[in-house]
Amino acid sequence: VKDDRISRITSAIRVIPDFPKPGILFQDITTLLLDPVAFKDTIDLFVERYKDKEISVVAGVEARGFIFGPPIALAIGAKFVPMRKPNKLPGAVISEEYSLEYGTDKMEMHVGAVQEGERALVIDDLIATGGTLRAAISLLERVKANVVECACVIELPELKGRERLGGKPLFVLVS
Ligand code: AMP
Repeated sequence: VKDDRISRITSAIRVIPDFPKPGILFQDITTLLLDPVAFKDTIDLFVERYKDKEISVVAGVEARGFIFGPPIALAIGAKFVPMRKPNKLPGAVISEEYSLEYGTDKMEMHVGAVQEGERALVIDDLIATGGTLRAAISLLERVKANVVECACVIELPELKGRERLGGKPLFVLVS
């Protein structure tokens, strides 16, 4: 994305080395949230891209997809669906296991939240290996939704996560 707003967003993201463990460069979006102009620019850039794409579902991945997803959903007139860590959602769920650097994790979605044929956008703060977004795509496809695109504030391109999305397009603001 080429836009003057991108440089403000980029500067508002704080990078913390060796968190949560040695060797990881943690991209901290909480400092972006402290800058209301940069936070609004972030939401606006997504809304500008998705407002005329007939998206009916914004699916946000726990936890930071819960920060960016709802304002986008409200602005484009879509519902917001949380994709949660295991045993958090109280109703009947479908769940998808996915691999982490060490071991596996699970992601869950409420049954009935998304209907067959709905047009979905998946939101998270960051794509690294792509495993998290891949799990969200799988959950939506299991209920026969059409995943139009995935969107993140930040991409770590060297990890090639984009290639794990089964051909789904990925839109990012900062790479
Ligand atoms: P992945 O499944 O490998 O694409 O990892 C993406 C998920 O892990 C997202 O929910 C991110 O919030 C988090 N994540 C992975 N690496 C980082 C990083 N370097 N800085 C901040 N968050 C990260």
